[in-house]
Amino acid sequence: MNIIMLGAQGTGKGTVAGEISENTGMVQISTGDIFRKNISEKTPLGIEADKFISQGNLVPDEITIPMVEDRLTWDDAKNGVILDGFPRTIKQAEALDKILEAKGEKIDLVVNLVTPKEEIIDRMLTRRVCTNPDCKATYNTKLHPPKVEGICDKCGSPLKQRDDDSNPDAIKRRLEIYEEKTSPLVEYYKNKGVLRTETVSISINRMGKDVARDIVNDIKK
Ligand code: AMP
Repeated sequence: MNIIMLGAQGTGKGTVAGEISENTGMVQISTGDIFRKNISEKTPLGIEADKFISQGNLVPDEITIPMVEDRLTWDDAKNGVILDGFPRTIKQAEALDKILEAKGEKIDLVVNLVTPKEEIIDRMLTRRVCTNPDCKATYNTKLHPPKVEGICDKCGSPLKQRDDDSNPDAIKRRLEIYEEKTSPLVEYYKNKGVLRTETVSISINRMGKDVARDIVNDIKK
């Protein structure tokens, strides 16, 4: 089974993907995490990607698509994947269809997370991530704080704010790009009959973990 997490920044894609992964054993592939790992290790890919990410722009398809294509050949991707942050453009979605088709696979479920805009910005500003690239746990100082302030519950490493979350211009740019380039994917996957839209909002007391629990229950049915 292959799952895509869709939704604007700050809707909780990573949290939902992580919970589904923990409860099903499916591997979570986050393109943002792959880029951030490469940036912290100063690899050629990381140096190139950072030019786009720090400004809140998308990394070009020519870099992103081959990176994901390669990642999908790893052993842990054999039993299906949860793609978190990919595809983000129609071109990426079409490329993904071809990559999966060549392996006799397809996208089975697209989880589209929707959160009111005013909550999204607050969620991005209060997000904290673990600095250990092998852990990558995500917290929120208001909604999901760590037990000890500034320290990861899972591995004890310091937490930090993502560079692109602390830059208001980059936040604005990322949300604009989502509307322009990524939101057409909602229609793309709706037409394929695989779209499942879920609202995540404090106003209806439904958080990422609730969505993940329901999806895991449905998968296991
Ligand atoms: P994320 O952690 O998913 O919010 O991704 C962080 C940043 O990485 C994004 O703002 C983009 O600059 C870049 N990025 C992640 N995934 C993609 C993608 N599929 N295509 C292009 N850029 C991406």
